Amino acid sequence: MRHFPIFLDLAGRRALVIGDGPAAARKAASLREAGAEVAEHKLYAPHLLDGCAIAIGADAPEPDLVALSRDGRARGIPVNIVDRPALCGFITPAIVDRDPLTIAVGSGGAAPVLARLVRARIEAAVPPAFGRLGALAARFREALRARFPDLAARRRVLEQALGGRVADLVFAGRDEAASDAFAEMIAAGEPSPRGIVHLVGAGPGPADLLTLRGQRLLGEADVIVHDRLVSDEVLALARRDAERMFVGKARADHCVPQQEINALLVRLAHAGKRVVRLKGGDPLVFGRGGEEAEALAQAGVSFEIVPGVTAALACAAGAGIPLTHRDAARTVTFVTGHTKDGALDLDWVTLARGETLAVYMCAASLARLHAGLVSAGYDPATPAALIERGGTDTQRVLVLPFERLVAEAPAWVQSGPALLLLGEVVGHRSHQA
Ligand code: SAH
Repeated sequence: MRHFPIFLDLAGRRALVIGDGPAAARKAASLREAGAEVAEHKLYAPHLLDGCAIAIGADAPEPDLVALSRDGRARGIPVNIVDRPALCGFITPAIVDRDPLTIAVGSGGAAPVLARLVRARIEAAVPPAFGRLGALAARFREALRARFPDLAARRRVLEQALGGRVADLVFAGRDEAASDAFAEMIAAGEPSPRGIVHLVGAGPGPADLLTLRGQRLLGEADVIVHDRLVSDEVLALARRDAERMFVGKARADHCVPQQEINALLVRLAHAGKRVVRLKGGDPLVFGRGGEEAEALAQAGVSFEIVPGVTAALACAAGAGIPLTHRDAARTVTFVTGHTKDGALDLDWVTLARGETLAVYMCAASLARLHAGLVSAGYDPATPAALIERGGTDTQRVLVLPFERLVAEAPAWVQSGPALLLLGEVVGHRSHQA
């Protein structure tokens, strides 16, 4: 560590900014934000340093910057000359401002670009709502201190609040409910753990297609209950010591019956666990998330649903096929090709009139799908795309008129989930050669 990081209290202190340009203006603005009384001058003169707690130079003639650096250091005043590490007594970090939470990232002046890249990652991981959470914690500080004089107890309550329900409410934009929940926690005394289930959509596979909320909840969960479609990459975001339970289903090979999954979720929550029920894509699209939510509600378990990128969206984006198009489709229909006892029970007339059709679980029922649609007057030459492992880096796409696609698919299909997109929009596909 080349520099010692500190946070300086500049409220009401005098700060000097020398220079005339955008960098100087930016520095002056952030000093003012920190409450400093900022004097801005284009050129340097020694008396300007009188009474200063800090000085910054940028966009000024070289001799002025050199003199400012030399004099400031001689007088024990911290000086920074922008982009001139050799002239600096201190350097300024890249900042993530989630007031009252401030995160500073430095590279010792060696690689500011790297520090800024790291900052961008932190910005994504620490959404602005953390600032509101910090402000809420500050508001309850005195009440907490009075109610829990013991530091360890206070810390447990705070951890429970800031990592649990209060945080969830703040992140969901429900600040008033969060404040009430915080007050209740304080009134209730030391908490007994309260379980909660988050039904989280894992998206199509790549970890960076998971929502930030999903990522945070995964990192906080005690138990992850997941399906076969959830990728290892997403599962790796869970806490190392979190328990992982696989309840996956393959077609016609139901590992754990739905009833048992529902009961498991209820049992875990009643035991005080923070549970993430992780499902491929979106939990409410052909994912039986609705049934699980119902079971939780009936059992009086707290739950929250976090959406995910559903296969139709991931496949469309991955293949460059618009789902809607001003000239081709104003409606999209999500259909399941899942068969029950070998039969595909769909309303063909309505479907044949549809514009874009996105057919999930289609692999084993393409021929039946084709026959059903064509019997209701659907054009067998409609542009069609079969997308395997859409949204992942092993995605494959087969584009053909519907009829030919159905004929060629069996030989083409490899492994992994596949989705069928049907409609004029497929003809509007744009992709890199
Ligand atoms: N809840 C999920 C869908 C579950 S049903 C979602 O919202 O995406 C399972 C079906 O989803 C698979 O049979 C397949 O049709 C589709 N599917 C899921 N992931 C997919 C992917 N990466 N590429 C193509 N199809 C996918």
